[in-house]
Amino acid sequence: MTTKKQIVIIGAGPAGLLLAHYLLTRSNDYQVTVYDKRSDPRTSEQSKRAFVIGISQRGRQALQKIDGLWNAVREKGVAVSKTAVYSPKKSQWQYFQRSKDPDYFNLLISRDYLCITLLDELEKRAKGNLNLIFNATCNQVDLKQHQVKLIVGGESVVEQSYDLLVGADGVHSVVRNAMLKQPKFDFQQRYFDTIWKVMHVPRPVEMPANASHFFRKIYPNNGLKTAPCKLSVGAIPEINDKLCILMFWNPAPQIAEENPPGINTTADVQKIVTDTWFPNLGIKISDAQAQEYFQQRPSTIFETKCSRYHDLPGQAIIVGDAAHAMSSRLGQGCQAAFSDVMAFDRLLQEEADNLNIVLPKYSEQQVNEGHAITDLNTQLLPRSQRLLFLMNMVMGIQSKLSKTFPKLSKGSYSYLLSQTTLPYSQIAERFQLWMRLIKWSNDKIISQTSRKV
Ligand SMILES: Cc1cc2nc3c(=O)[nH]c(=O)nc-3n(C[C@H](O)[C@H](O)[C@H](O)COP(=O)(O)OP(=O)(O)OC[C@H]3O[C@@H](n4cnc5c(N)ncnc54)[C@H](O)[C@@H]3O)c2cc1C
Repeated sequence: MTTKKQIVIIGAGPAGLLLAHYLLTRSNDYQVTVYDKRSDPRTSEQSKRAFVIGISQRGRQALQKIDGLWNAVREKGVAVSKTAVYSPKKSQWQYFQRSKDPDYFNLLISRDYLCITLLDELEKRAKGNLNLIFNATCNQVDLKQHQVKLIVGGESVVEQSYDLLVGADGVHSVVRNAMLKQPKFDFQQRYFDTIWKVMHVPRPVEMPANASHFFRKIYPNNGLKTAPCKLSVGAIPEINDKLCILMFWNPAPQIAEENPPGINTTADVQKIVTDTWFPNLGIKISDAQAQEYFQQRPSTIFETKCSRYHDLPGQAIIVGDAAHAMSSRLGQGCQAAFSDVMAFDRLLQEEADNLNIVLPKYSEQQVNEGHAITDLNTQLLPRSQRLLFLMNMVMGIQSKLSKTFPKLSKGSYSYLLSQTTLPYSQIAERFQLWMRLIKWSNDKIISQTSRKV
């Protein structure tokens, strides 16, 4: 009898769970153990900070590779094909179809529901070759001994040996921290200048379930000579007739702003959301919901870049946010995590599961991809309003051209990211001139503002 390879996955988020699916589908020779520091989302109450993830073509493709998985996930999400913005002149919402393809939609699903579905489907399919262990915090990684230590249930210490270790443990990855101590591992992490808060409220019947509504505004920063505050709010449909209101804003540096501009009291929450951000939609926010929202601490966003996603002597890899955390601006974090999983599986297939060949090849492919999408995410965000206007105009023209003359133009970056599965590195190459121009303009604005402060 051959002994099974022990695969230890730290992190039961979307990346770790999808990888467990792929590994168990690949081979009966793998014994997969997934640990997560949180409790099982199927038995715990949904977190108040639970947020909704949009799954586009790339994510869908990754889920479809596992029989029946896409359909299971699809049932727990809402298909959104339109974007809505309010026209104050016409006093009404205007709806824009995101794609001419009637089959195209973005599946909006709460991260918790996505994980719950991946977990349920894993348990249905596993045949004694899967262990799921929650409330288990990995706090030590010994890459030399191929061993991890975890605190399970808040007290007992568990030691676990592995043949392959997967760090799917998100932005503050302990597996990545262990890799960091190895030679030639470069790592950068920085705060994004944006913070976010979330609220879940009932979705009024008059609000269409196939559209996300948006409000965007630029506010001068309370007379401070710093860059203005950009606020972006989305009212995103969820299953069970709910609405996830997600807001992102960039507060003035050094100032702890717990709420977006205009919200100074609990009553402001109800008034601003229903009158200013989302008028004429009938959204109702109870006193308790407003209070809870008001007291919620905003969450920060990190961007992470690593020079390698593997450690060969330690037989370890990192996937998803552990390798390349980014802001949700282009809605690609989870899609990029799923792309890592697909790439790793493809390499196992090509190299007959020989980890000594697969691991370096995995970095070779995915580091480029990870850097490309984090760069696209930050560098296609002009601070200059003129440049933003120009870019939106050119992208609009490219979009139109691509429909009439597909050979002349391949479409805007948002189309290529959300509606195709073209590698991120190829998309970044196509838009490198824009990225350079925006970086140059942003650097100039940052240096001007910091000189004024
Ligand atoms: C507001 C918001 C909106 C977003 N919208 C989108 C979107 O529209 N589209 C998109 O593609 N992406 C989106 N993202 C990004 C997406 O959520 C992440 O990229 C994705 O969740 C990454 O998955 P992951 O499994 O790599 O990491 P995570 O989801 O962070 O999961 C990591 C898991 O590891 C566990 N863990 C951490 N440390 C340890 C430890 N020491 N021991 C044991 N377990 C540990 C954590 O409990 C967690 O369950 C959004 C993110 C945010 C915050």
